[in-house]
Amino acid sequence: MNRRNFLKTSALGLAFAAAPISLSAAGTDTATRKAARSGRLNLSFEPYELKLRHAFNLARNQRTTTPGVQVQIEYDGLVGYGEASMPPYLGENVESVCKYLNSLDLAQFSDPFRLAEIHEYLDSVAPNDRAAKASVDIALHDLTGKIMGQPWYKIWGLSPEKAPNTSFTISYDADPKEMAAKIDETAPFKVVKIKMGLDHDKEITEAFRKRSDVPICVDANQGWTDKHKALDMCKWLADRNCLFVEQPMPKEMFEETAWLRERSPLPIIADEYLQRISDVRRAADAYDGINIKLMKSTGLYEAHKMANLARALGMKVMLGCMTETSCAVTAAAQLSPMVDWADLDGNLLIANDRFDGIKIVDGKVTIPDRPGIGVELIG
Ligand code: MG
Repeated sequence: MNRRNFLKTSALGLAFAAAPISLSAAGTDTATRKAARSGRLNLSFEPYELKLRHAFNLARNQRTTTPGVQVQIEYDGLVGYGEASMPPYLGENVESVCKYLNSLDLAQFSDPFRLAEIHEYLDSVAPNDRAAKASVDIALHDLTGKIMGQPWYKIWGLSPEKAPNTSFTISYDADPKEMAAKIDETAPFKVVKIKMGLDHDKEITEAFRKRSDVPICVDANQGWTDKHKALDMCKWLADRNCLFVEQPMPKEMFEETAWLRERSPLPIIADEYLQRISDVRRAADAYDGINIKLMKSTGLYEAHKMANLARALGMKVMLGCMTETSCAVTAAAQLSPMVDWADLDGNLLIANDRFDGIKIVDGKVTIPDRPGIGVELIG
């Protein structure tokens, strides 16, 4: 059975074999499948490299692909989909995610609704591996939502019409024609996120402003290392219809970021500084808001708690994603009605999406009317 047929077979919920199935024929030696038993959680996974539509220029590197791992959890004929996406700075990779997932024994759980207990178990197996844990969490939310026949935004009591516009991200290109093409591609969006922290921050902003007047947000990706220069940039950007600045300085420069926050006319948002819920309280001392991403938070279970905690601390909440398929992005979209800003464009940046899910309608996050995380396998 090739990989596509394997996934489609699973999507149809047909019976699994009673013994582990090797996926080596599909070229995925590290993929594995636990023996299927009725009433038990059965985990399977396979590596899936995401191909980028444009090379991505960040403050500290450039990349054209992102490693990923696709996950399924089967339970009584239903399949929940999940995904791990591993941008290099997170410190996870295909090998570490597969090693973590291989070490799990989810078949010990007979009730997928015991998310608290399962998350305790996931953390007990290894302290980090956040993207790997997120892949399990997303698949469990998909599964349990499907069992209830409801999407998660509804289970959480959220109003989908309150989902915000999403930003679309562009980065610098030395070729003016390429730069213009990137800017023109942002036309359907009501907010555009510009990656900064390189030597061309004003240049890219001015190039953008020549072709578009929509609000921008800025992600410096830790690229500004001088607090005075960072403050100058915040002031300069505030005059150019910028909404906020994300991670202006290296996460280690906490005191300098607190200094900047006191003086900046724009909100300062934590991204790389912050991973999980235990980081939120301290972030409030130097940042105005937090960027929650499922691959950092270990999935939806903790992301939902983080959004509530940040709100209770009076912080702004942004919802981001990695470069990932519509699986993880649509899962994140379930939370979008409770955030100030969404940056859910990761699926739009790749050329080989295998899921249908989140749609951007008139610039706005639109959550599919499907149970679970709201996705359908299409490839
Ligand atoms: Mg960021």
